[in-house]
Amino acid sequence: MTAMIIDGKKIAAQLREDMKARLSGRPAKDRPGLAVVLVGDDPASAVYVRQKEKACLETGINSFIRRLPEDTGQDELLALIEGLNRSEEVHGILVQLPLPDGIDTKRIVSAIIPEKDADGFHPVNVGRLWSGESVVEPCTPKGIMTLIDSTGVELKGLEAVVIGRSNIVGKPAAAMLLARHCTVTVCHSRTEDLPDVVRRGDIVVAAIGRPNFVTGDMIKPGAVVIDVGINRADGRLVGDVEFESALRKAAFITPVPGGVGPMTIASLLRNTLRLAGV
Ligand code: NDP
Repeated sequence: MTAMIIDGKKIAAQLREDMKARLSGRPAKDRPGLAVVLVGDDPASAVYVRQKEKACLETGINSFIRRLPEDTGQDELLALIEGLNRSEEVHGILVQLPLPDGIDTKRIVSAIIPEKDADGFHPVNVGRLWSGESVVEPCTPKGIMTLIDSTGVELKGLEAVVIGRSNIVGKPAAAMLLARHCTVTVCHSRTEDLPDVVRRGDIVVAAIGRPNFVTGDMIKPGAVVIDVGINRADGRLVGDVEFESALRKAAFITPVPGGVGPMTIASLLRNTLRLAGV
């Protein structure tokens, strides 16, 4: 068996085209606005922020980038967020993580009002996600669900195995799969007999951050395999799944790059439209 490759790049591009079409013809003042706050000069974060800005502008979303120096104090950052919370032009706010040492990330994330929380990380929105009333969902798992749905596989009753329990990927992905009636198992670094657990998965979501960790022998024949990992190995990008061996076992698989990655920004744009009521 050779799996079908899920083309995240194409699906994300289609979503972005659809949003662009919905926003076309609107005067600038009636467009959704996304504010992205970047503190410090982490090079990876700077790249992500530029990508988000570009994606907003291409889609017809007003982009407000706030770049602050590394030594910005917490109170100053809180004051900035307070202003964005009040701004009528801004419908979504995102603070690029990680924040420099000395800033309390939880405090900052909680300072964004839940109604403008474009990342879905505010504790109120996390609670809403787990209680099935969510308005915004964290972007990467939202993208994962769109990719799974693109396969046409009926999720109800399937075994889903999520590897990784971070607040930004593993846990919200588990909540979303549970909401879709999967039987969900979440693995992490203390899981015993992890390969055996993964072998149960009709759906496998790998969000670990270790190159080629999930090998083909752990994949149930016919599974849907979603590889969230972005790792640099031997000078190239590889996922958490050993692609070649998993390709021979799965029915559907995402590549790295070109799978989950492009969906994350597309989901952010979708959240922004949702928060703006578009
Ligand atoms: P974290 O480092 O926050 O979490 C990693 C998780 O993997 C933890 O729950 C950890 O377990 C678990 N883990 C680590 N080692 C093992 C192991 N040996 N066996 C089993 N479980 C293990 O990572 P993130 O969730 O933020 O990201 C995961 C990957 O996804 C990274 O490669 C990241 O770059 C990528 N990513 C990609 C995105 C995209 O847009 N495509 C967006 C976000 C992330 P424990 O909790 O016990 O420590």
